[in-house]
Amino acid sequence: MAELGFVDLRRMSHACIISARSPEEALRTARHIAAAAVCTGQGGKPCGRCRACRKAGEGIHPDIIPVCRLSDDKGRQKREISVDQIRAVSADAVVLPNEAGRKVYIIEDADSMNIPAQNAALKLLEEPPAGVMFLLCVTNAGQLLPTVRSRCTELNLNGAAAGEAGESRALAAEFVKCAASGDPARLCRWCGKNEGLDSRAAEAFVESAGELLADMLCGREEAFGMSREELLRLHGLLGRCQAWLRVNVGVKHIFGLLAVDAIAGGGNRG
Ligand SMILES: [Zn+2]
Repeated sequence: MAELGFVDLRRMSHACIISARSPEEALRTARHIAAAAVCTGQGGKPCGRCRACRKAGEGIHPDIIPVCRLSDDKGRQKREISVDQIRAVSADAVVLPNEAGRKVYIIEDADSMNIPAQNAALKLLEEPPAGVMFLLCVTNAGQLLPTVRSRCTELNLNGAAAGEAGESRALAAEFVKCAASGDPARLCRWCGKNEGLDSRAAEAFVESAGELLADMLCGREEAFGMSREELLRLHGLLGRCQAWLRVNVGVKHIFGLLAVDAIAGGGNRG
């Protein structure tokens, strides 16, 4: 987003996932939305002129609360946002705002919340205290639990990558259809056809497939007749593939694994 315009707060829910290519871009957008949420000016928000907007711009508004990964004792940023941090947010969120009509929590690198942290966040998102807004900054929304995603609206800033994303989404849909068909031979053929993808394309495919399954779990996409258990199992499998790709497991191995494991019991029966 080159130019951040006014924010239509009526269209924002109490929780929004802001997905961008870089953490900086996601954070910049989150700060802009947060400024709009506390702005006391008339007309378009954020006005950029009122006291609240100025404080937001300087990062000192008491009702805009950043949540980020802590540093260890050597000053290095930790890999994960912990459950204790999210519990602290839960405790703080019920306290009334200081100045503004609402409180806004900006969770930086929300995709680095570990599973217990995400489960704690889920409770918070299910029963948010009145007037509180959560902005979850991510570069990989696929790292979030489907149940967390289903509680949030998503703002996707990855416009530039739309063509590429469309391609991997189409591949993802083909793959999920093959898995849903329950036909191991069909799945095998499909995996064989795609095992030559380069690692970048394979990563994009695996991420898209994870997102598609998350959308199916939340009812945003038709699930090709698959049960919730099947969807969750496939989602878990793709999560593991994503982790393996990250440690440079070969693309061929990944597709081999998908061919065997994407249909429950398919490798044994087929
Ligand atoms: Zn303002």
